[in-house]
Amino acid sequence: MTFSFTDQHSERQQCMRCGTCCKKGGPALHEQDIALVSQKIIDPENLYTIRVGELVRDNVNGGLIYTDAEIIKIRASEASHACIFLRNNENACGIYEDRPGQCHALECWNSETIRATHTQNRLDRKALFGELDWLWNILEEHESRCNYVQIRRLIERRREGDSSASREVEEMISYDQAIRDIVIEKANMESGMLNLLFGMPLKLVLQRRFGLKIQVHV
Ligand code: SF4
Repeated sequence: MTFSFTDQHSERQQCMRCGTCCKKGGPALHEQDIALVSQKIIDPENLYTIRVGELVRDNVNGGLIYTDAEIIKIRASEASHACIFLRNNENACGIYEDRPGQCHALECWNSETIRATHTQNRLDRKALFGELDWLWNILEEHESRCNYVQIRRLIERRREGDSSASREVEEMISYDQAIRDIVIEKANMESGMLNLLFGMPLKLVLQRRFGLKIQVHV
């Protein structure tokens, strides 16, 4: 969800249900939303993780920033940037009664509430999977082997002509793909869970967000 605010002096004081906010993407979840996931009101396959250090749009102040905290978001529909729960033909939210806290907090005529709360108590993977030791160990291993802080350093070295940095990035991409395949095969996990468990595929993020052209030789 990208927040867009109307004139701060607008006299409007309520949501017109125009769907503009929802059409710009799904919201980030906060700790208060965990029951929506555990009760499957929001299917985990409709979520994805933005990992620490990833380049994201600053929804309040604009521009791109490297996030210093993990963000779990509702994904967009296949055909557009709109939140997967937006029923386009009716311009209505499919889970309106149970919509996440961020959707409650967003008042497009008044940015104060969302400014004060959008980075507070964000839901993260530890809260969702931390009690599943076997899975949490895999997620931690993945994070330690291909976190974005390391990757950004490697990209910097690569720009400076260090060919070993290119190889290291390629190895990370191969590992990122391999661990996804292993979790599907050995843990019998649905592939739709992968973007929540590991974030978006590393290769895709590096291409789309970091503008890298990478050929991985396997
Ligand atoms: S969950 Fe509902 S209210 Fe929130 S962005 Fe999606 S469609 Fe809109």
